[in-house]
Amino acid sequence: MKVPFFNYSGAFKLLEQEFSEIFSDVINRGAFIQQKDLVEFENNLANYLDVKHVFGVGNATDGLTMIWKAIGLSPGDEVIFPSHTMVASAASVVHAGGTPVAVDCGDDHLISTKSIEAAITERTRGVMPVQLNGRTADMDSIQSICDKYNLVLVEDAAQALGSKFKKKNAGTFGIAAAFSFYPAKLLGCLGDGGAVVTNDDEVARKIEMLRDHGRSPITGQVETWGYNSRLDNLQAAFLDAQLCGYDTYVRRRRQVAQRYIDGLEKVSQVYLPPSPSLVSDHFDVFQNFEIEVENRDCLQEHLARAEIGTIRQWGGFAVHQFPALKVRGDCPRTNLLFERCLMLPMNTVITDEEVNFVIQKIVHFYNT
Ligand SMILES: *Cc1c(COP(=O)(O)O)cnc(C)c1O
Repeated sequence: MKVPFFNYSGAFKLLEQEFSEIFSDVINRGAFIQQKDLVEFENNLANYLDVKHVFGVGNATDGLTMIWKAIGLSPGDEVIFPSHTMVASAASVVHAGGTPVAVDCGDDHLISTKSIEAAITERTRGVMPVQLNGRTADMDSIQSICDKYNLVLVEDAAQALGSKFKKKNAGTFGIAAAFSFYPAKLLGCLGDGGAVVTNDDEVARKIEMLRDHGRSPITGQVETWGYNSRLDNLQAAFLDAQLCGYDTYVRRRRQVAQRYIDGLEKVSQVYLPPSPSLVSDHFDVFQNFEIEVENRDCLQEHLARAEIGTIRQWGGFAVHQFPALKVRGDCPRTNLLFERCLMLPMNTVITDEEVNFVIQKIVHFYNT
């Protein structure tokens, strides 16, 4: 048995016929840029998330950059973000003219509320929690810090479509948020794609212009220096086709997570994420199944020999650990995490037998 970390060729296999029909339909209509399929997807996603505005954009990195541009950062303005994230989160702040300040994570691998407060300075403008691995941070305490210090709250929700905190969707807490539709993300398209969501009319007006060369959709006048970062109409059509059945995918991910937890909870060298069956404020959608383990490198080799694919998130480095980027941050918990973290295969095409096989190999490794 071979268990790839992510099965790129198998991921969309079941949808091949449906996608072929969409492809022909879009070709025949010549509907490529900002056409009705995009508008329909944006409306359906807005309904799904219960948010006022959704704009399809080129990818989540551009989405976050355009959000910070819309908010307006001055040189020296600081934005606090968790170092355990994709470099893209911090890059968005830099591209918009600000300074990203890295903070530590907590035991659930998400931004630590305590370290946010400790990192606030005169120059702090915003906080960007990352709703990592399909889990939403404790947004009550983050919101109250933002209120107390008058900071802008933006969510990096690239990994969190459908994830909730106290029944409220990731991406709908702050002034705006970005989602990613990279193929391996929860809702993936056949290439790059993303969305910006917001309840703020002024941010919405700016994002709509920024993604399309700064042009006003009403007058056609160029009102600002913009980007070319639109979600392709064809990709929007592929995404819309999957959005209807999206909750089924989420259910499957939660089942896979539960199976891993049931199979591994007795292994004392393995630290697991919270179980989806635990009654709590969090509804986790398991973009990833990230564990901490002892003797990580040997375990990873052991699994590789059994042809089980695992990954160290972000190639094994938190953002403050890239010397070239010179990102400020004191993150002891994150440093420890990156000595021990590993992501097990987690997707919607993995079978129960494959999950059992992974469990069996991990149990075997620590028993011998
Ligand atoms: C994937 C990801 C991004 C970037 O998304 P793209 O659509 O590839 O630009 C940003 N932040 C996090 C946390 C991600 O996982």
